[in-house]
Amino acid sequence: MSEPFRIMTRIDFEADGRQFGHLDVPHSSNESAWGALRVPIVVIRHGEGPTLLCTGGNHGDEYEGPIALMKLARALPPEAIQGRLILLPALNLPAVLAGTRVSPIDQVNMNRAFPGDPRGTPTLMIADYLRRRILPLADAVLDLHSGGKTLSFVPFCGMHQLDDAAQMARTRDALLAFGAPLSLIIREFDVVGMLDTAVEELGKPFLFTELGGGGTATAATVRVAERGIRNLLRHFGLIDAPPEPAPTRLMHSPDASWFVIADDRGILEMLVDLGETVSAGAALAQVHDVERPQRPPAVYRAARSGMLIGRHAPGLIKPGDCLAVIATDYEAG
Ligand code: ZN
Repeated sequence: MSEPFRIMTRIDFEADGRQFGHLDVPHSSNESAWGALRVPIVVIRHGEGPTLLCTGGNHGDEYEGPIALMKLARALPPEAIQGRLILLPALNLPAVLAGTRVSPIDQVNMNRAFPGDPRGTPTLMIADYLRRRILPLADAVLDLHSGGKTLSFVPFCGMHQLDDAAQMARTRDALLAFGAPLSLIIREFDVVGMLDTAVEELGKPFLFTELGGGGTATAATVRVAERGIRNLLRHFGLIDAPPEPAPTRLMHSPDASWFVIADDRGILEMLVDLGETVSAGAALAQVHDVERPQRPPAVYRAARSGMLIGRHAPGLIKPGDCLAVIATDYEAG
């Protein structure tokens, strides 16, 4: 027996045309006794064809996704596509409204909430609804992230290294079609609870982005998102045209040695900037102990040679924070 949904929506996923609606997530609070959180959803459908699901606001402090998806929702006439586009520009709405990574209501990180729970807190209910009601409708999924307040990236579109060769090849084709300046293949260490895993387990292509970060969006990173979504509409056949050619560099960060984690607390001084190349053993950053100016800073060296594609964004850093991510060119194997 499958558990009934507590989330309600007036959206008809099978209707043609453009629908702006909500997923009403029951949330009874001191402020609203019989209230609901209204997670925005847009469905644009025109006849039979593939379904592409695009999500933004999985984390609430990442802005390219919500911006690009809201603009697309208003601008794209249903007649321009063949098939169905499902847009969730603010997946974790309470987090987006608060500008925080996790939901201020239940403190749950949406991207650690899967498979979700229809009897759980709001974030778990949304994850459950997405997994059981919406993912089965989708032929491919794009989840738009950026670095948020605490990380910054060279804008990239990414996918995971997958064990299934056919699924890997199909996803890599979509990754290259997206056409971000950098296309990254990563091996995730901690996949439990991720939307990524929920989609990949269904055997469907799943792409994510990390577009900039630092808690804001730039003109350039929004453009990367918008062009990438247009290209995926073309790649998956919702629009009958080839993807816009966009130069992209296919790279990967194959294991934990490509990630630098801080051991010290203090002020972060990067010695290499995003997009620059480092050699294994070269100094990458140093952390200054502001209460002991006489003490030399702790120096962090790159374990690998490659491009600095990600860094800790705030000026202050502490043990356990991700300080840097390095990637190298991907040799197809
Ligand atoms: Zn994110």
